[in-house]
Amino acid sequence: MGIGEDSTVDHAQGGAQVAGVSPRYAAADHSSVLEAASILRSGGLAACPTETVYGLAVDAANALAVARVYAVKGRPRFNPLIIHVSDAAAAAREVQFTELAQRLAQAFWPGPLTLVLPRRPDSCVCDLASAGLETLAVRAPSHPVMRDLLAAFGGPLAAPSANRSGHVSPTTAAHVAADFPAGVDMILDGGACQYGLESTVLAVSDEVARLLRPGAISRTELEAVAGPMQAAAEAESASPSSPGQLASHYAPRAPMRLNAATAEPGEVLLGFGAIAGDVSLSPSGDLAEAAANLFAALRALDSRGAARICVAPIPERGLGEAINDRLRRAAAPRP
Ligand code: AMP
Ligand code: MG
Repeated sequence: MGIGEDSTVDHAQGGAQVAGVSPRYAAADHSSVLEAASILRSGGLAACPTETVYGLAVDAANALAVARVYAVKGRPRFNPLIIHVSDAAAAAREVQFTELAQRLAQAFWPGPLTLVLPRRPDSCVCDLASAGLETLAVRAPSHPVMRDLLAAFGGPLAAPSANRSGHVSPTTAAHVAADFPAGVDMILDGGACQYGLESTVLAVSDEVARLLRPGAISRTELEAVAGPMQAAAEAESASPSSPGQLASHYAPRAPMRLNAATAEPGEVLLGFGAIAGDVSLSPSGDLAEAAANLFAALRALDSRGAARICVAPIPERGLGEAINDRLRRAAAPRP
């Protein structure tokens, strides 16, 4: 086998996608849930049924594990992930609840409703899971297997749908296995999902809810609790929810220059691989490590008060595509 070539591909995919080991496939009983929880604690990926679709769960506090999820899904961008918690009390450790959010959680949790709320400064969720946003999308699922997994793990889990980017959402364990012959550590088979449709996503600010994504809970059901809501399309044009365009999306204060080999006067250099820089995304040139460090590194360089941030070239393969997408957005001229 082409020695250097294969290990390069492995790196590019965060070591997960092409690792070649088939996921352990198990009926979702309590002992396999305990096994999955221990995989999650060591930074692994476990697919788990929820009442909406199958989720690909990782420790939401572990940026490297979250980077692996983006890598195996083949996402070209860092879209923020939904953070799954046991209940409203667990959610309240990560986000700031408004009175309306509390009413919504009381009415629909556990269940297929996701609430986008301001992140608490002491939240354990890593920046990469929310793609650098100041908000977090949280939900308490009702599926007994996911609930058991959350209880056994004992912390928030980031869990996007367990499919490759661009494929349809998986509603059976067999769908998950078909999309991930490798790259996922374990698949819990809990049968077909009840809704087979993603959760409804609401942004809740003070006393107004905006529908960001229609889903398993209908507008009528929600309006009975939340009062009239803006349509998804209206909300979209008022404040684009496409994550890369969100105004609240973190961009460094300092202007940025990409593909820099060395720093010019007044610049700080964000390094990668052989280009060490003032701070490095990954000295060894590992794209998963670079993704895990990206948001924290941008914040750290910004806080140094540099006039300009320049960034070493990042290869456009595997996670490099999402990293470069994010860097290009941060470097784009601002209004
Ligand atoms: P999935 O990855 O399939 O679970 O989908 C997650 C959905 O939640 C996407 O539509 C995201 O854009 C949305 N989402 C997650 N976090 C946020 C956030 N902080 N603000 C707005 N939308 C979010
Ligand atoms: Mg999805």
